[in-house]
Amino acid sequence: MNKKNFSENCDLSFYTTIKVGGIAEYFAEPRNMQEFSDLIKWANLNEQRCQIIGAGSNLLINNIFIKGLVICTKKLKGLMIEPNSGIVEAEAGVMLPTLSNTLAKNGLQGGEWAVGIPGTLGGAIYMNAGTGNLSLAKNLISVKVINNKTREKLEIYKKDINFKYRFSSFQSNDLAIISAKLHFEPNGNLEKLIETTKNNLKLKTETQPYHLPSFGSVFKNPENNYAAKIIDDMGLKGFQIGGAEISTMHANFIVNNSSASSKDIFELITVIQQKVLQKKGIYLQPEVRMIGFEYPN
Ligand SMILES: Cc1cc2nc3c(=O)[nH]c(=O)nc-3n(C[C@H](O)[C@H](O)[C@H](O)COP(=O)(O)OP(=O)(O)OC[C@H]3O[C@@H](n4cnc5c(N)ncnc54)[C@H](O)[C@@H]3O)c2cc1C
Repeated sequence: MNKKNFSENCDLSFYTTIKVGGIAEYFAEPRNMQEFSDLIKWANLNEQRCQIIGAGSNLLINNIFIKGLVICTKKLKGLMIEPNSGIVEAEAGVMLPTLSNTLAKNGLQGGEWAVGIPGTLGGAIYMNAGTGNLSLAKNLISVKVINNKTREKLEIYKKDINFKYRFSSFQSNDLAIISAKLHFEPNGNLEKLIETTKNNLKLKTETQPYHLPSFGSVFKNPENNYAAKIIDDMGLKGFQIGGAEISTMHANFIVNNSSASSKDIFELITVIQQKVLQKKGIYLQPEVRMIGFEYPN
């Protein structure tokens, strides 16, 4: 494999939005599909564990040595839009804000909500990221993947993917998402779409701590309830462990006050869970994905 796209002992804190992470034994950022598939093949043939990450905006990585290969998709940015039909084909590393703004500028309706989610398309499909009742699952036609074990390339249609709240069947299989085909409503009012997209971003930045390192919502909302409200009602806003703090702006966010370790953040998650369980009898399930922890993801 080409050495240029492959480094050793890479500090993953530079690749997560909460700015903590361990050291990856091997790390690569493929720039095209061939490189992506070569890397998976290399890991497979060399019996190395292979983890795919996107923008690292929903990730807590332990500050330990992470054995095997970590592949970051952020350089896979191919995006093709057909304004007349509304068909969009995008590679896994396309950022949702880019997608959302490009859709609006092309008069395509249905992606305005995604502008404030700082993740990649691959990560968003894997997480079934969304807001309210909206998620990309609504607009998805199919997803192209590589099987990490067999290296087989497949196109999976929406009807064969199980999407639930912050869950997709990709969380329970071993497939690397390489690209997706989506459909958005064409011929929308350009001015209105751009305005709505702008306003959605404004609303997010006014109500969530975008100015500080975080990984978005820590916990999934329990049925008929809101994790943020539960944590807020318990007076936990501002509660800290080391450099990890429950945001004073939004109680379901943990922010890194510049010096937090992965351990501080993990402990804070555990303490919130214990306090909420003791006082309210509710188990808060983390939304954030964890690497290098003994945690059932
Ligand atoms: C300020 C802020 C606001 C946020 N707001 C929202 C919100 O409103 N709604 C929401 O749902 N989320 C939100 N998030 C969380 C996060 O942005 C989303 O979950 C996002 O979709 C994660 O994408 P990512 O590329 O960063 O994935 P990562 O964090 O890099 O990875 C997340 C998981 O996806 C897997 N994965 C990533 N790419 C691939 C791939 N190509 N193939 C297979 N598996 C892959 C990883 O292995 C990991 O398990 C927010 C985060 C932040 C920091």
